[in-house]
Amino acid sequence: MGNLVEYQDWNDEEFKEDKKRAEKEKQGKYLRYGEDGKLRVRFLPPRVGEPRFLEVYEHFYKSDDDKWVKYVCPEKSGDRDCTDCARARKLFATGSEVDKKRAKDFVAKKKIYVNVIDRDDEIFGPKILELKASQKARLFKIRDIKGNFTDPGPRGYDITLTKSGKGFSTEYDAFDNDRSELGDEGWIARQADLREMTTVPTDEELEKMGVPLFEPDTDDEAEAEELYQ
Ligand SMILES: [Zn+2]
Repeated sequence: MGNLVEYQDWNDEEFKEDKKRAEKEKQGKYLRYGEDGKLRVRFLPPRVGEPRFLEVYEHFYKSDDDKWVKYVCPEKSGDRDCTDCARARKLFATGSEVDKKRAKDFVAKKKIYVNVIDRDDEIFGPKILELKASQKARLFKIRDIKGNFTDPGPRGYDITLTKSGKGFSTEYDAFDNDRSELGDEGWIARQADLREMTTVPTDEELEKMGVPLFEPDTDDEAEAEELYQ
């Protein structure tokens, strides 16, 4: 070998970037807030027939055997009875504070999903982001005043999404940026069909997750029958 350096260095700056990238790769198709609580994104215009803001009811809680359970509610986002919705109603009905707190875990929560490009890492292409209701409301105001931010042409613009605070006092907001073009229009074709996120699990899938199958409340039925007579 001569004096020519034929290998690459791996300095701290490069390593920092590599770590950040590895973290984003781990997130897969989802985009999440980094430590600074800021995301600069471009909302992708949905393909014809697909939703711009997908809204779906999801159950998400830690089960008694310490496992996280997450699924689309068969009742609120489907047409079947739902064990956890029934559990929540029953717990709320007892009037006890402890039951009420537990009931909140079992309630299905409305989630909003959108397709975006992460402007800080466009290399990963379209990503799915969970938008908060406060951000959606803000985006409607921005849209009203400034026009369609999802326009891929020069009339569109990026949105900066922010997350601040912690726990119950976490606040989410959205701000507009200067007008700019989307860039790669191929992203539109490559974005996820968000409707796939509304797939209700089958009874078999629910059982696998450890969610007991829905059983009509026999006490209530007996009560109803009594009243009926
Ligand atoms: Zn439910």
